[in-house]
Amino acid sequence: MSPSKTGGRRPLISGNWKMNLTHLEAINVVQKLAYSLEPAVTSKRDVSIHPPFTALRSVQTVLDADDMPMALGAQNVHWEPSGAYTGEVSPAMLAKLNVRYVIVGHSERRQMFGETDERVNKKLKAVLAAGMTPIVCVGETLEEREAGTTEEKVLSQIRVGLAGVAADAVAAMVVAYEPVWAIGTGRTPTPQDAQEVCGAIRAALVAEHGAGAGASIRIQYGGSVKPDNIDALMALPDVDGALVGGASLDPSDFARIVAFTEQ
Ligand code: PEP
Repeated sequence: MSPSKTGGRRPLISGNWKMNLTHLEAINVVQKLAYSLEPAVTSKRDVSIHPPFTALRSVQTVLDADDMPMALGAQNVHWEPSGAYTGEVSPAMLAKLNVRYVIVGHSERRQMFGETDERVNKKLKAVLAAGMTPIVCVGETLEEREAGTTEEKVLSQIRVGLAGVAADAVAAMVVAYEPVWAIGTGRTPTPQDAQEVCGAIRAALVAEHGAGAGASIRIQYGGSVKPDNIDALMALPDVDGALVGGASLDPSDFARIVAFTEQ
C-alpha cells in the first residue's frame, strides 16, 4: 500500500492526440470514448482530451451537446491576445471554445519548434489570464538522465516556467513530468524513479510558491503510459494523473487508463 496522497488532489487523466485525427475521425473517437467511460469512474476523476486545433470546434460541439464527462483541451497556444502571428491561435480563441486545459511546453514543441522556458512562462500566464488551466510539461533527455542531471534540468524548467505566477494560480494548475526518452518509446522510468522526480518537483514548488500551492498542484506523469502500467504509476504519492499520448487514440485503452485501480 503506497502512502496516501495529501491535499485531496483529484486525479486528472489527459489524452494528447498530437497531430492525429481529422475532425470527423475525432468525433468518432470521442463518441466511442464517452461510451466506454464509466460514470462511477468519471464522478471521481477528471478527464481531458486534446485534439488538434482543427478538431476543437467539432469535439466541443459533441461534448457539450451530450454533456460528456470530459473537458476539452488544447495542445498549444500563443501568448499574445491577437495580431500578426501567422499560424498561431490566441488564448481567447481557445477559451471561447470552452477549452479548459492547455498543454504548454510539450517536449515535442521544445525540441522541434524552439519553445524555451521563457516562452513557456509567457504562455502559461496568458492561459491563466484567459481563465484556463495550463498543463506545463517538463522532463529530461536521455543524455541528461545518464549524466545524472535530471533534477537540475526539471527543477530549472519549473523555476523559469512558473516564475512570477501567484501562489493561488500555481495551486490550481497542472505540471506534467514527462521524461523525453519515455515519450512514444514504450520505455518508462521505474516507479521509484518517477516518484523521485515528482516528489522533487513538489518540494521545489513548496519552497518557491508555498506549502498550500505545493500541496494542491496536480502533477501528472507522462511517457508511454498504457493500461498495464497506469495502476503502478497512480499509486505513487506525488503522481496525481497521467498525460497520455499514443494510448489516448484508442478509446478502450484510454478508458482503461482512466479507470485505473487504486492501490
Ligand atoms: C505525450 O504525448 O505527452 C506522451 C506522453 O506520449 P506517449 O504516451 O505516446 O509516450
